[in-house]
Amino acid sequence: MFQVVWFKRDLRIRDHRPLAEAARRGPVLPLYLIEPELLSAPDFDPSHWAFVEASLRELDHHLRLLGQGLVVRTGEAVEVLRSLPIAHLWAHEETGNFISYQRDRRVRRWARETQTPFTEFPSGGVVRLLPSRDGWAKNWEKRMNEHIVEAPGRLQPSISPTAIPTARDLALPPSRRLVQPGGESAAQDTLDSFLSARGRRYHLEMSSPVTAGESCSRLSSYLAYDNLSTRQVLQATRARLLTLNEPDAALWRRALRAFDARLHWRCHFMQKLEDEPRIEFENFVPAYDGLREPHWNEDWFAAWAEGRTGYPFLDACMRMLEQTGWINFRMRAMLVSFASYHLWLHWRRPALHLAKLFVDYEPGIHYSQIQMQSGTTGINTLRIYSPIKQQQDQDPDGDFVRRWLPPGPGYPNEPIVGHKEALALARSRMSVVRRAPAARAQALAVAERHGSRKKTPRPVRRSPQQMLF
Ligand SMILES: Cc1cc2nc3c(=O)[nH]c(=O)nc-3n(C[C@H](O)[C@H](O)[C@H](O)COP(=O)(O)OP(=O)(O)OC[C@H]3O[C@@H](n4cnc5c(N)ncnc54)[C@H](O)[C@@H]3O)c2cc1C
Repeated sequence: MFQVVWFKRDLRIRDHRPLAEAARRGPVLPLYLIEPELLSAPDFDPSHWAFVEASLRELDHHLRLLGQGLVVRTGEAVEVLRSLPIAHLWAHEETGNFISYQRDRRVRRWARETQTPFTEFPSGGVVRLLPSRDGWAKNWEKRMNEHIVEAPGRLQPSISPTAIPTARDLALPPSRRLVQPGGESAAQDTLDSFLSARGRRYHLEMSSPVTAGESCSRLSSYLAYDNLSTRQVLQATRARLLTLNEPDAALWRRALRAFDARLHWRCHFMQKLEDEPRIEFENFVPAYDGLREPHWNEDWFAAWAEGRTGYPFLDACMRMLEQTGWINFRMRAMLVSFASYHLWLHWRRPALHLAKLFVDYEPGIHYSQIQMQSGTTGINTLRIYSPIKQQQDQDPDGDFVRRWLPPGPGYPNEPIVGHKEALALARSRMSVVRRAPAARAQALAVAERHGSRKKTPRPVRRSPQQMLF
C-alpha cells in the first residue's frame, strides 16, 4: 500500500505539500492522470497538452532523481484510483472547469465510501467553502507568507514508473502553436529574467502588445500549471523589492508593486469560480440572460475568431494569439469587448475559443474576466474598447499590424460592423438592463459575494457608468 500523490495542475516538486507529507510516511506513488473527459472538452486544445507534456517530463526527471519516477494512467479518476493500492491519497485542491469540479466530487465521495484517507491542501490563496469575502485579503497575505515547503530529500520507491505519452500516443493533433516550454526550470528562468531585467518597465509597457511580450512576466502558463506556486513567485518578488539598490530603484519599485497586485488579483478572480462554478456557463447577474443570445451571428463570430473583422489591429491581435498562445491583458480585454459590444455576441463561445488559444487558460481567471469584459457581472464599470483608438495608442506606426497581419487575399476591405453605430446600439441595450431593479438587486448580491473588500465595488445605482478605451 502506497502514499499516492495525485499531481493535477501543480506540476512541480518544490513547495508541494502533498508530496512532502507523503514522502514522510512511506513508499510514494506519484500519479498523473490523463482524463479523456478533459481532453475531449470544448475548452481543451493540443497546445495545452504540449505545455503539460513538457512539465511532466521535467517532473518525472526530478522524481526519478529522488528515487521514484512518475506513474501515468489514463482513464476516469475513480476507476483508476480504485485499481491502485492506496494507503493515503494526497493532492492539492483544484479550482478548474466544471468537469474537474464534478470529478473531484466523485473522488471525494469514493474516498469517503471506501474509507480511503484523502487529504487535499489549498492551492495559492483560494479558500474552499469560503463563508464570506470578509478577511479574504488578510488570509491571502497569511498564506503567501507561509514557508516554502522544501522538496523531499528522497522518495521510497513503489511501482515502476511509466513513459510520458506524447501527443501522438494520445491521438491528439500536433500543437499548432509555438508555446513556451513547460516545466519547473523554465518557470524559474522566466521568473529570474523578469525580476532581474525584463520587469523594469512592467507597469509602463504592459498595455501594448508590442512591448508586453518582453516586459510582462510571462509567468501565466507556469502559474496555470503551477510549475511555480503563487507563493514562490510572490516571495521572490518581495525579496527583490527589499534589496533594490540600482539607480532606477524607484522605477523597479513601481513595476514590482504593480506585479505583486496582480498576483493578488489572480487568486481573487479564481475565488469567484471556486465559490460559484456556474459562472463558467451562466451570467453572474441573471438579469442579463437572453440579452445577447437571440442575436447570435455565426458569420460575425467566425470573422472575429479568424481575425478578419476588417479592424486590422484587432485582427492582428487574434492572429498573434493564434500563433503564440499568448497576448497581453489589454488586448484580451479588447478582443472580448469587441465580440460582446460591437458584435453583440453572447460570451460563452468566444470564451471557449479563447480558452483553446490561451496556453495559460485558467478557468477561474478566464470566466471572471470574460464576464467582466462583457458587462455581465453587474459590479464593474462598462469598459468598451475601441480597436481604432487602441491601434492609435498601442501601434501608432503600424509595425505590429504589419507583422501579424500581412496583406493577403480574402481580407475584408471594410469593417464588418461600423464602430459608432454598433457602440451606440450596445450602450442603449446595456442601459436598459442595468437600470432595471432586478439587475440592481442581483448586482448587489454579486458585490456581497464576490467583491473585493479592499475597495468594495458598488453596483451602478442611477446612471450606468460607461467608459470608452
Ligand atoms: C478576457 C480575459 C481572459 C483572461 N484569461 C486568462 C486566463 O485564462 N489565464 C490567465 O492566467 N490570465 C488570464 N487573463 C488575465 C491576464 O490577461 C493574463 O494573466 C496575463 O496577460 C498573462 O500574462 P503574464 O503572466 O505575462 O501577466 P503579468 O502581467 O506578468 O501578471 C502576472 C500574473 O498575474 C495574474 N494576473 C495578471 N493580470 C490579471 C488579471 N487581470 N486578473 C487576474 N489575474 C491576473 C496572472 O496569473 C499572471 O500570470 C485574462 C484576461 C482577460 C481580459
